[in-house]
Amino acid sequence: MRQIKKSNKKTRKAGRTQDNLRINYRLLNTALVVLILILTISYSVFFGDGNHLPARSAPKAFSQFPLGYHVSLRAEAATKSASTLPKNNETATQSPTLPPENTETFVPDDYCLRVPVLMYHHIQPEATAKALGQISLSVDNGVFAQQMAYLAQNGYNTIWASDLINALRTHTPLPPKTVVITMDDGYKDNYTYALPILEQYHLKANLMLASGLVQSNPDMLAWNDISAMKSSGVFYFTNHTWSHWPISKGPQSKIDFEIDTAQTEIQQHTGQTVNVFTYPYGAFNNNAISTLISKGYIGSFSTIPGHYQCDSFIMSLHRTRIGNAPLSDYGI
Ligand SMILES: [Zn+2]
Repeated sequence: MRQIKKSNKKTRKAGRTQDNLRINYRLLNTALVVLILILTISYSVFFGDGNHLPARSAPKAFSQFPLGYHVSLRAEAATKSASTLPKNNETATQSPTLPPENTETFVPDDYCLRVPVLMYHHIQPEATAKALGQISLSVDNGVFAQQMAYLAQNGYNTIWASDLINALRTHTPLPPKTVVITMDDGYKDNYTYALPILEQYHLKANLMLASGLVQSNPDMLAWNDISAMKSSGVFYFTNHTWSHWPISKGPQSKIDFEIDTAQTEIQQHTGQTVNVFTYPYGAFNNNAISTLISKGYIGSFSTIPGHYQCDSFIMSLHRTRIGNAPLSDYGI
């Protein structure tokens, strides 16, 4: 009898310990969620979306962009990314139906491809980047050469933005190890340093061009450079607005002007059809998307991170911001 009582007591004690454990787990989960939220917001505040131009080349409207707005947009983007991206399927190359993490965001007939889109800005010597205060937006040209050598030597296939978008729209598989190289804004060093390296390794790249910034100062590309980049056969051009304007805000007339002017100018100087868009600051909303679609745009790039691209978010494709580490560090 005493033994039974003792064992009952033990069981009750064990039950209490389990309850405590459960409560502790719940507390731990809550703490983790809060921590992730804080980290997401801090990241937005300190690193932004990587689309800022340096102060010395920024037009007025550009540097006056309100930070608070930027932060809330990034938080929204992070949530979207977390809920739509498959985390346990990173080894798959192509998958017509990806297992969604969150069934609420499941898109039944979605078509997805694992195609990392690499996001660069400046490619220049680290010393120059330091002197100009452009370190956070720069990849050293020596490192870039190593990264491109890695792609070439490991059998990676580089394609233009339009190739990826057409593959998603027509549900056509792409070769394994396909990546998209993108360079934002239109910096002079993309011509000086990146183009010869890309030519050396026979790789393709994409320039996300803010046409109003062309020739605005010596740091930016000139139209001559852009023509040469086009005729090299290396570069494809996407619309990044005229003045690097966040098209999620402003009167519709301004949004239209920004998209239409850049499209006309880039088409004039490259002879290429411009129907792919890249959001300045990664800023987009439903109106931005419907405006682009009404103008005939077939796809757009955001700054939401992720290696998978899906038909369901063809107007906010994901990109991986690349720094000075080996590409293998970014899951490439
Ligand atoms: Zn930009």
